[in-house]
Amino acid sequence: VLDTGERVITIALVNGNQAGKELSEQNQKAAFQPVIKVSGINGEPIFTSVDKKVNLTTDPELLELELLYYGVYCYGQGHGCSVEWDTENPDPLWVASTFFPTFNLRQMKASEFPGLTIFNMKRLFTEAPSVLINELRQFIAEYQKWIDGIETQSLQFSGDRKMSAERNIKKCRNAYSQINKSIDLLEKSCNGDGIVFRAFQLANEAMYIQRVRTLTRNRKPIDSEKINWYPFQLAFFLHEMVSFIEPSGEERKKVDLLWFPTGGGKTEAYLGISAFVIFLRRLRNTQDDGVTIIMRYTLRLLTLQQFERASILIFACEQLREKYNLGGSEIAIGLWVGGKLTPNSLEAARASINKQQRGALISGDEENPCQIQICPWCGVKITAQNYSVDMAASRMIIRCPNPGCEFHFRPHGLPVHIIDAAIYEHLPSFIVATVDKFSQIPLNDKPAALFGITSGKKPPELIIQDELHLISGPLGTMTGIYEAAVTRLCEHDGIQAKVIASTATIRNAENQIRSLYGRSHTQFPPQGISISDSFFASESAPDERPARRYFGVMGIGTTATTTLIRVNAAMLFATRYLEKLGFSETTIDNFWSIIVYFNSLRELGGASTQILDDVQSRFGYLAKTKFANVYPGIDADISYDNIVELTSRMNNSDITKVIQEGLKRSYRSDTHVDVYDFLLASNMISVGVDVGRLGAMIVAGQPKTNAEYIQATSRVGRNNPGIVVTVYNSSRSRDRSHYEQFLKYHTAMYRYVEATSLTPFSDRARDRGLHALFVSLCRYLVSGLLHNGDAINFDANNPKVRDCLLYTSP
Ligand SMILES: [Zn+2]
Repeated sequence: VLDTGERVITIALVNGNQAGKELSEQNQKAAFQPVIKVSGINGEPIFTSVDKKVNLTTDPELLELELLYYGVYCYGQGHGCSVEWDTENPDPLWVASTFFPTFNLRQMKASEFPGLTIFNMKRLFTEAPSVLINELRQFIAEYQKWIDGIETQSLQFSGDRKMSAERNIKKCRNAYSQINKSIDLLEKSCNGDGIVFRAFQLANEAMYIQRVRTLTRNRKPIDSEKINWYPFQLAFFLHEMVSFIEPSGEERKKVDLLWFPTGGGKTEAYLGISAFVIFLRRLRNTQDDGVTIIMRYTLRLLTLQQFERASILIFACEQLREKYNLGGSEIAIGLWVGGKLTPNSLEAARASINKQQRGALISGDEENPCQIQICPWCGVKITAQNYSVDMAASRMIIRCPNPGCEFHFRPHGLPVHIIDAAIYEHLPSFIVATVDKFSQIPLNDKPAALFGITSGKKPPELIIQDELHLISGPLGTMTGIYEAAVTRLCEHDGIQAKVIASTATIRNAENQIRSLYGRSHTQFPPQGISISDSFFASESAPDERPARRYFGVMGIGTTATTTLIRVNAAMLFATRYLEKLGFSETTIDNFWSIIVYFNSLRELGGASTQILDDVQSRFGYLAKTKFANVYPGIDADISYDNIVELTSRMNNSDITKVIQEGLKRSYRSDTHVDVYDFLLASNMISVGVDVGRLGAMIVAGQPKTNAEYIQATSRVGRNNPGIVVTVYNSSRSRDRSHYEQFLKYHTAMYRYVEATSLTPFSDRARDRGLHALFVSLCRYLVSGLLHNGDAINFDANNPKVRDCLLYTSP
């Protein structure tokens, strides 16, 4: 009994029946899936939330979470079962036990602003400046109104909640002023030299073309009225512009963190600002080309996919450079990953191309220059026959074989560089790189060109770090050390490059960003006073945007393996039965390929034989016996054995094949033999697999981290509704606890994301990495030390060397 008179009540159900050893007798005396349901005597609401009474934390971030999730309550916890409660009423009228808890996750949807057409990309580069600026002001005025609104609401808060609200409202006001400043600068530009405004127009035109190309490639209809920014994307674009228009300003010094749930359109938001930066730099000085933007990823797999997306935008930029005679060198994109993926030298590239042109196959582990297999612009297949090396121009030429493609006739083919040597020579404006590639800096003199040291260009001015939450642990720690070198090398006239990071799942961002970049950060969009509304996006109603439905299953009195087999068989049966129910091809396709997620390779190991044997025979049993009367007509003898794995033990080209081709094959009523029945995946799937048709997933055991659970399960239900069934292992206490608190956990999933840590300043990390930092700086910043033979010139008393030492000393 609490001070307030409220009570915590535990209700247990005991089966007092006695039964002998006979199975039939045991079954008769057992209670199957009993339900305990509690409600007020006259139906009145009698429940209060379990955990809202105690609050001991002082950590501002935790207090902020308290604020944002205020109103997300928990009314009970199961013991050996799960609990659900009435979610239709604000104060629940009942609480009940359940063995099959479910939860509908609502997606965030972009807010709409009827009457404002400012989000239309085409309008942004065709409309008269005064009209545009006027409308941008209206948009931002709405934001101000919204901030005023939450401020009024928060007046009734008290204590910590009030303080957190005040902090958040201040952040919203800062975001407002920064966006407003950009609009001022745009207006000022229109009345002045017009450069900033022109760059803004060009960036929007490039983004528009990029959208049109993507739609064309996917054979979708093009309606320019529907090619729009999401409000948060346009707002982010405006928010970031200041840092480049006035690089010496305070805004430039901060790391800006774009935080938005998975699948929300983050990539497009920073592609837009990238185009702006490229054009602004060129318009300000035609000769000022060189590497302008470095976009970094942690995984090669992801890198290739994102590279393709970014390519379309850069191709569009290059097209506009020609169309408007902007001058300067070609605007190109570079893939700087090297090592096991692509050859480092043109000679090696040529040898490999010749080999492949003669028809020789190269193994998946071998480095391969022919990474681009589809023309990003027109979507036509590109083979080794379309690759060649032009030694005189020191570049590899990739020619799109489609004569109808606008990039077919260009003398140097597609504006793409994927061989290291060519990247150092041509300095593409936009470089996509993996974080580990930066370990080349101390070992190699060539990358100096990227930072303008040997090329006489300005260094890159924008660094984009995607999936920031992955830069943690040992990888993050080492990255943090190399980052210090990158930061210094990108510095120009005392101004550092802008860093934009993005993630969907992060906690403790301030510490992580400080350790990584040594700077403070701004999150965009700032949260207001509730997790379900940030002005730019709000939680959608169930019928507005397809949601994901989560189910929890825990087998009691049986092994986890048996439970998993049965869940797999049931899912297989249910998805195959959609045919019998007469659903459309699209709907059936949506659930046809079942993803089974495993927490370790060991657990995944035996799964494919299990699916071939046990799941298949259980499926036969369901069809012939258990469901024969209720769901008749399923052919029990068809075997659904198109099974594929997606794990880190596969080589790059196989992984790419599964993701780019296999998973995209769709079910058709006349054939489904080449469509995957099951995809057995390790945590490899959690990053970068973005296939819209996937809608069914089984998670074998609660993943180790909550961020991982969110990332993995977000792979389904991206375009259409999705189902996730999590199978808990009853012999693991953590799994049990997740099952017993299923609803509480799922209503506030993002809240439970773990804080990540990286420790570049720890002793061991410094032992491992500090010399690399020192060597990098000496080589690149002290004249006469760059090349491999220059080590002899090293002089510890050289003041420049001492500067490097000083920079390195913590
Ligand atoms: Zn093409």
